[in-house]
Amino acid sequence: HQERLQEIAHVPSMTEDRKSVRLAANIGSIKEIDQALKNGAIGVGLFRSEFLYMDRDSLPDENEQYDVYRQAAVKLEGKPLIIRTLDIGGDKKLDYLPMQVEDNPALGCRAIRISLERHELFKTQLRAILRASHFGQVKIMYPMISSLNELRQANELLAQAKQDLSRRGQPFNPNIEVGLTIEVPGAALIADVLAKEVNFFSIGTNDLIQFVLAVDRMNDSIAHLYDPYHPAVIRLLKLTIDAAKSAGIPVAVCGEFAGDIRALPLWLGLGIEELSMSMQLLLPIKHRLLTSNHAECERMLEEVLKCGTSEEIIGVLESSNSKSS
Ligand code: PEP
Ligand code: MG
Repeated sequence: HQERLQEIAHVPSMTEDRKSVRLAANIGSIKEIDQALKNGAIGVGLFRSEFLYMDRDSLPDENEQYDVYRQAAVKLEGKPLIIRTLDIGGDKKLDYLPMQVEDNPALGCRAIRISLERHELFKTQLRAILRASHFGQVKIMYPMISSLNELRQANELLAQAKQDLSRRGQPFNPNIEVGLTIEVPGAALIADVLAKEVNFFSIGTNDLIQFVLAVDRMNDSIAHLYDPYHPAVIRLLKLTIDAAKSAGIPVAVCGEFAGDIRALPLWLGLGIEELSMSMQLLLPIKHRLLTSNHAECERMLEEVLKCGTSEEIIGVLESSNSKSS
């Protein structure tokens, strides 16, 4: 079966009625890039940079990070590489970076919040990414932004990192694209405002679902309440995607939900044009995409938006899946 799937790796990624959907890869190390490209990825939609910081006993310095980001950019030969800045805290801890013990780490000092407190740590990473941008289509993505002020602070530090490099005479792409993950419900609700000041969005459904439903994604005893198909999730997705479209910026999905085969008609109906997922899912999703019908999914979305429960929503999506397979 895998061999048959491999045959579609390089056919154009579009529905039977010719709606293109770019399929990109989520990676945690540069070792994964070769296989992702083999599976037809158009690039890297999410590079989880925290893996560079984990399993060691001190912070990686600028040159060490630059080496890794540059190698990734070179391997991708001009294809997009979206590097998400350090997303630690919550469930991901670094032994060498003392952090306060928190009662609610998922709601605590994590991701962009740490970067905005530790300017040198953040600017070191930004300079490394900027230097790598000289070698490919590198983009920066901020995790867990919840307000316009945070976005502006992060961009101010980015401007300083650019100045540092200019002073040193080191080359970088001065027009590097900057985006953010929509994974806090508050950010989704002000997506129209945020969209005016970034080049792209990527929806991090893993955290977005956790926060909108108040269900800890790590807590097995309430895992049955962690429901990607909850109508509240669907509404926030629609709000975010519509806001991006009105502002004329691209919006992708990079959480696990992007690679859920049952959700593909939902993404098509919502008008998503890019999905980023772990590389093993690229071919199965593409296989389904090739036989999907975009116009049909748009009609189906009208039904989905009227549903009051996730069971009803899944029912509507499955009726569409059975028609297309
Ligand atoms: C997400 O939250 O959906 C996401 C992509 O990031 P992570 O799973 O690394 O938190
Ligand atoms: Mg997340």
